Amino acid sequence: MIEFQELSWLRPAWDQASAHWKSLSHGILITGNSGIGKGHLALELSRLLLCTEPNEHQACGQCASCQLLENSVHPDLHVLVPEAQIDNQPEPVRRHASRYFLSEKGASPTRKPSRVIGVDAVRLLSDSLATKSGQAGRKLSLIVPADRLNSNSMNALLKLLEEPTAETYIILVSARPYRLAATIRSRCIQLECPTPDPQVVRSWLGDRYPEASIDVLPFARCGIGPLQINEIVAAGEHGLFQGLIEKLHRPSLAGDNPLLLAQECSAVGIQTALRILQHLALAQIRQRATGVGSSRSCSSESTFSGRESCIQTFAEIGQFLLNPTGAVDEQLFLEDICTRICEERES
Ligand SMILES: [Zn+2]
Repeated sequence: MIEFQELSWLRPAWDQASAHWKSLSHGILITGNSGIGKGHLALELSRLLLCTEPNEHQACGQCASCQLLENSVHPDLHVLVPEAQIDNQPEPVRRHASRYFLSEKGASPTRKPSRVIGVDAVRLLSDSLATKSGQAGRKLSLIVPADRLNSNSMNALLKLLEEPTAETYIILVSARPYRLAATIRSRCIQLECPTPDPQVVRSWLGDRYPEASIDVLPFARCGIGPLQINEIVAAGEHGLFQGLIEKLHRPSLAGDNPLLLAQECSAVGIQTALRILQHLALAQIRQRATGVGSSRSCSSESTFSGRESCIQTFAEIGQFLLNPTGAVDEQLFLEDICTRICEERES
């Protein structure tokens, strides 16, 4: 398990939040790239806000509230996470979140885990926050990632932000805050977590895996954050990812067979591969617009052939990830994108 204190690059964001923790707004939006530990920061802030005997800028770790949170049974910590993303969360977040899962409340055990945070969960949260605090202190809600709220649940959340109950905090965590309604963003203070430099990530991973040789830069260029790299290395899959990333940066290495490329993408997980492809399309759009980033490239090749192709791919994958249609279609959609990469290279 990774402790918040290990994530040194989050220290400036933590100092900013903890310095004024007693006067924080009841709506807090934590943003920053994927896989850098925003959930850990949100949990640490929750600890501080719920602690009954805090040190100056730190939860005490000893009081009843701290102990309840550590044991994942705090009655005043309410966590909303899409069922499908529960495995990516720190341990206390996972166990607190299960209280709000439909599967815990009589839904069919064979149904697929939901990828969105539905309106029922937000209504349940609203009911919970309206009741008296179990510890006679603050009440806190964590919503991770907040961009997985759909339009109905966003409307329900807006009411909570507009009419907050006393001593209540709502912490939203998102790598894609632009997907949140402007009315929600405007009711929160924003805490931006910067992405750590590759040498910081290299050093952090080097301490954790002194035996492994990990080239961090290709991961960073695909938008894969340090915590995600850590999981990939722990699973022994970094060679698999590095091979795929190299091919996506230099499609000529992939040959002319889109099905083989799709197969390699599937090996790292279709959703993960689609996120990598979407990030590469966005990076290419930015690179063309600003000229920044071209010196980092390991070759003169591009994943996609032109600006229109990048924009189309970015938008299509974004739409697909928001409204997935099932396992078979996922594979076909991935093959379609791989066909685009291979055909554009030939033309
Ligand atoms: Zn405490």
